[in-house]
Amino acid sequence: MLSGARRTWPSVRRSEGPLSMLPTEPIFSRHAVVIPKPLIRWDIGSWFGRGSPAACDSFVMESMNMAELRVGLGYDLHRTIIGRPLILGNIQIPHEKGLEGHSDADIVIHSLIDALTGAAGLPDVGQQFPNTDPRYKNINSAELLKAAYAVFLQAGWRLLNADFVILAQRPMLSPYKPAMIKRLAELLAVHESQVNLKGKTGERVGSVGKEKAMACQCVVLIEKT
Ligand SMILES: [Zn+2]
Repeated sequence: MLSGARRTWPSVRRSEGPLSMLPTEPIFSRHAVVIPKPLIRWDIGSWFGRGSPAACDSFVMESMNMAELRVGLGYDLHRTIIGRPLILGNIQIPHEKGLEGHSDADIVIHSLIDALTGAAGLPDVGQQFPNTDPRYKNINSAELLKAAYAVFLQAGWRLLNADFVILAQRPMLSPYKPAMIKRLAELLAVHESQVNLKGKTGERVGSVGKEKAMACQCVVLIEKT
């Protein structure tokens, strides 16, 4: 349908100021849609009320220099075991099984530490807190997070948001979601809106689905201060 056709770019008119000198229409060819670069620059500037393409260039450069942003990804899995409390996001959740591990096996906090340290290029949770070190036996993972987060902040980073997926067949986690978010936001000294968390089952397959393990994924966005 696009082949050979030419369309007018809807947000731009030829008669508007500096645009009279610029290409104003994307070019639709058989294989691609080409949007002229000056048009893209003008559009960015017009959003922010800047005038000329030159001003827009400097605006784009300023924006790029304003923030050094990085993303980080964390993942953790622990086996379920009878006789241990289930701790997720530093909240104790009533369940007949807990998670096996050297520490309290809080997969939410372990994945968070790995996401933060991964984004900042710092040693991961296993390097910072080896599971062979008796000091960390049964430790509350909030203590590990506090130590890792202090290093993270000292390295000049700030957390913008953290998003989690907890993988557990049972129990249903939605009743505990507000408490987990509140506690994580407290530990990270951020607003609760900067922390998000979802629960997913394992669809009764695999180690999560068969209730042999629980896992957590975490992604963070961080900014250099
Ligand atoms: Zn872990």
